[in-house]
Amino acid sequence: MTTNNDLVELKNRVIERSPAEQEFHQAVETIFDTLEPVIRKHPDYAQAKLLERICEPERQIIFRVPWVDDQGYVQINRGYRVEFNSALGPYKGGLRFHPSVTLGVVKFLGFEQIFKNSLTGLPIGGGKGGADFDPKDKSDNEIMHFCQSFMTELHRHIGEYTDVPAGDIGVGTREIGYLFGQYKRLTNRYESGVLTGKGLYWGGARVRTEATGYGTAYFVNEMLSAHGNGLDDRDVVVSGSGNVAIYAMKKIQELGGRVIACSDSSGYIHDSAGIDVELIKQIKEVERGRISEYPKRSHHNATFVPGRAVWEVPCHVALPCATQNELDAHAAKNLIKNDVIAVAEGANMPCTPEAVELFRDAGILFGPGKAANAGGVATSALEMQQNASRDSWTFEYSESRLKEIMTNIHANCYETAEEYGRPGDYISGANIAGFTRVAEAMLAFGVI
Ligand code: GLU
Repeated sequence: MTTNNDLVELKNRVIERSPAEQEFHQAVETIFDTLEPVIRKHPDYAQAKLLERICEPERQIIFRVPWVDDQGYVQINRGYRVEFNSALGPYKGGLRFHPSVTLGVVKFLGFEQIFKNSLTGLPIGGGKGGADFDPKDKSDNEIMHFCQSFMTELHRHIGEYTDVPAGDIGVGTREIGYLFGQYKRLTNRYESGVLTGKGLYWGGARVRTEATGYGTAYFVNEMLSAHGNGLDDRDVVVSGSGNVAIYAMKKIQELGGRVIACSDSSGYIHDSAGIDVELIKQIKEVERGRISEYPKRSHHNATFVPGRAVWEVPCHVALPCATQNELDAHAAKNLIKNDVIAVAEGANMPCTPEAVELFRDAGILFGPGKAANAGGVATSALEMQQNASRDSWTFEYSESRLKEIMTNIHANCYETAEEYGRPGDYISGANIAGFTRVAEAMLAFGVI
C-alpha cells in the first residue's frame, strides 16, 4: 500500500538527485501532488517504480556549439537534448533558443512534454532541447551558422523513429529550415519526418504554425462551455505576442471573444476596441520589432504601458502565452479581484505554484499547459503522419483534426478528474490521464 508519506519521500529523492534545477523540481512537484489516487489504485505501478523511473530521463545530451559571428569572432554556446521518455513513441518536443536555457529548464520542459504528448492520444514520447543562444539582434547569417553548428552535433542523436525535434521559443520555420538543410546534407537523406514545423514547400503541415494558439483557444472554449459559459462578448487578455499568442488571439476572436491586451518583454498594449492581430503579426513576425509600435500604427485608440505586467488589465479570460513563471501570486490576486473566470496556459508552466493555488482556492477554471497547449505538438504528430504517407492535407481537414484532438483532451481531463473524485480539477485530470497511458506502456515493456 502506497501512502502519502512514501510519495513525499520519493519526491524528495527525485529532487535531491537533480540539485539546482528549480523549474524541473516545480514540474515534478505538480505531478506528485496529483498522482496519489492513481498510485493508490495501482499497486503494480508502485512496485515497478514507474513514478521514479518516469522522473529520470532515458538519455541527456549536452554539447558544445561553436560558431563564427559576423565580425569574425568565435562564439561558444551550450546545446541540449533531453530524451526523456519513449514509451509511447519517438521522443518528441521542441528546441528552445534563449539565454535562459539550462539543463533544468530543458528537463522541466521535457518532463511536461511526456504527459502532454500522452494526452494527445497520438504515438509520441517526450523530449526537449535547445541552447543558451540569444537570437535577438543576430543577423540571418549568424542564425544560419548557429543552426548548422547545432545540427552538426544533434544529427547523430535524432531520426524519424528515434527523436523528432520541432520549434519552441526562438525557433520558428526559418530555424527549422536551416536545421533541416544541415541534417539533409550530413546524412544524405531526405528524411522529412525527422523535424516538424517545416515550411509548406518542403514537408511542413498546414495549421502547424497556428496550432498551439488555436488549440489553447479551443481548450478554453471547451472549459467554458462545460461549465455553462462561453466566449461571446468576453474580455480576454493574452500575454506574449509570439507565435502562440498571435494565433490564440486570432481564434479567440473567431470564437466570439474580445482580446483587449497583449504584451512583449518591454510592456503591454491595451486596445479596448479589440487587438488588430494582423498588425501585431506584421510588427512582431515580419519586422521582428517591438510591441510599442502598435499604438502608433493602429487606427484604434490603443495605449502602450511600458515595463508592467499585462495582468493588471481586468478581463474574464486570461491566457498566459509567453514563458514559464510569468504569472505570479500578485498577478493572480489582481485577476481574481477583477473577476476572471478562466485561465488557460498557452505557454509551458507560465503560472507559478502560488498563482495556481490562488486560482484553485477562488474556484477559477484553470487549464494547465500540458492540456491547453497540446495542440502544437499534436499537429506535429499529424505532420509526421503526412510525412510518413508522403501526403499533404488541406487546411480545413487539418484544423478539424486539431479541433477534435483538443475536444478529446478536454473531455479526457474532465472525465478523469470526475472519476478520481476531483471534479473541475483539470490539473489532476491532465496529470492522471497523461500518466496512466505512459505507465501502462512502461509496465508492458518490463524493467527497461
Ligand atoms: N514546443 C512545442 C511544445 O511545447 C511543440 C513541440 C513539438 O511540436 O514537438 O509543445
